[in-house]
Amino acid sequence: MEIEARLLDVTQRIEAVAEKAGRKAGSVSLVAVSKTFDGDAIQPVIDCGQRTFGENRVQEAQGKWPALKEKTAGIELHLIGPLQSNKAADAVALFDVIETVDREKIAKALAEEVKKQGRALRFYVQVNTGLEPQKAGIDPRETVAFVAMCRDELALNVEGLMCIPPADENPGPHFALLAKLAGECGLEKLSMGMSGDFETAVEFGATSVRVGSAIFGTR
Ligand SMILES: *Cc1c(COP(=O)(O)O)cnc(C)c1O
Repeated sequence: MEIEARLLDVTQRIEAVAEKAGRKAGSVSLVAVSKTFDGDAIQPVIDCGQRTFGENRVQEAQGKWPALKEKTAGIELHLIGPLQSNKAADAVALFDVIETVDREKIAKALAEEVKKQGRALRFYVQVNTGLEPQKAGIDPRETVAFVAMCRDELALNVEGLMCIPPADENPGPHFALLAKLAGECGLEKLSMGMSGDFETAVEFGATSVRVGSAIFGTR
């Protein structure tokens, strides 16, 4: 399948499962994850009308997105990988949405940069739903207090929660937990679901799915 056909297939599968789950048409947005792919691979996806993309490394994104953005208006870039505070300034300058806020130090660094640069970013708090020691994300039990701190003390524009379930587990319970926590936080956005499980995520209420290999091919 060509990249255009794969993109169409993914968007049709999202719409089909959303409709079946009684969700409104257009209520799930697609973040096309373009990490490891260069501008030549990404441009055809932009040409198909896709405008929202996800990258997991600040430096890699800096290398390819300024040129792509210059050619097409309305690109929205999401950072979906872990962020070090020494990269906060670069991340705030390039990205529109940062999905991986997961500790106080990075939240503070981001808040400072948003103020300094005067950019209006949106943020997600990443939750480590599987309590995996090697994985980023806040402990589910600390999520409500952490989100409150980010919003009330740091004035970060937190709009939702994000998770990456353990690779070897049924993702459903993790998606359900993220949805429950978002409710407790008063947040409406849920970033969950990747190539292997985005249909399940939509059933559990995902408002955006992050799909890479199903569109761009294997990395
Ligand atoms: C790479 C990545 C994805 C996309 O994964 P695929 O399996 O290629 O769809 C989604 N979310 C995060 C955080 C990622 O790092």
